[in-house]
Amino acid sequence: MIPQQQFASDNYAGICPEAMAAVTEANQGHAFSYGDDVWTEKASNALRTLFERECDVFFVFNGTAANSLALASLCYSYNGVICASSAHVETDECGAPEFFSNGSKLLNVPSPGGKLTPESIRAIATSRSDIHFPKPRAVTITQPNEFGVVYSLDEIRAISKVCRELGLKLHMDGARLANACASLGCSPAEATWRAGVDVVCFGGTKNGMAVGEAIVFFDRSLSADFDYRCKQAGQLASKMRFLAAPWVGMLESGAWRRNAEHANACARRFAARIAGLPQVRQAFPVDANSVFLHAPQEVLDGLHRRGWHFYSFIGGAARFMFAWDADPVWVDRLADDLAAEAKALAKVPA
Ligand SMILES: *Cc1c(COP(=O)(O)O)cnc(C)c1O
Repeated sequence: MIPQQQFASDNYAGICPEAMAAVTEANQGHAFSYGDDVWTEKASNALRTLFERECDVFFVFNGTAANSLALASLCYSYNGVICASSAHVETDECGAPEFFSNGSKLLNVPSPGGKLTPESIRAIATSRSDIHFPKPRAVTITQPNEFGVVYSLDEIRAISKVCRELGLKLHMDGARLANACASLGCSPAEATWRAGVDVVCFGGTKNGMAVGEAIVFFDRSLSADFDYRCKQAGQLASKMRFLAAPWVGMLESGAWRRNAEHANACARRFAARIAGLPQVRQAFPVDANSVFLHAPQEVLDGLHRRGWHFYSFIGGAARFMFAWDADPVWVDRLADDLAAEAKALAKVPA
């Protein structure tokens, strides 16, 4: 049996119908270019409605650009950005945050479980005040984090409190913010600016679009000339309507939240189905749309032999990601194959 769905990455999924329909609708005749079109206006307003306030909104192609340019806008080149050692900006962006900020150094903090804490932020921010160390200026947190763990609203509020106290701006990498909102049962406003976030990179791609992330500045003093940053970085889409339209489709239909709820539910379904297997245990809480497992290498090899793709280098565990279109039939087949391998190794009758 060749798996018809894979759970290595939520980026394996295609485009959801709501995003696709909006692109088709936007594909009518001519429109002004470089963001001067009605779709960009509508999408920006849809995000203002979603976040329940005035904010400055920009659309870029991917998350690396969104994070890097947002952080660059918070910093001078001699500043430092505090992040968890497992943060995507630190481990998966090829130095782009440093590159686009002309050298602002990421100050990565060893963070078991992938979360920064008020204490760890305070410790590194106050560790040095001499001229030889990058001057801390911003903190970035990933919500949910790289291990699929969600910061509670209280945790974010506590982090933003220490940021205010120390004069640090708070950035959120929300590549899967929709999944965090679904998990917390809260609104995007509660998850971000009401908890003290100054700027969020809100992921569209993993939520069901072909491409596109929105950078939303709640502190509008931080977005000065951001359009120039986007252009210089090669992130200003000439046919911007096609980056913008999917946001309108996703937000107006509520698909953004339904997709995230479905993905999270599939992760929980998988976790429940494999609970209690011999020598298999969850590496992190299943808060959002991922399940990380510790399992004997023989079991993981067996899964690979059965045709399943997945990564084992993130968080030192095997990672399974559930996308907006995860099919419970294939989720269950993955779980059943894992169970068969684990039981065979433990010589438990299947
Ligand atoms: C996927 C992801 C991004 C965006 O990555 P790109 O490949 O640059 O679009 C950013 N942060 C996190 C935590 C991610 O998982």
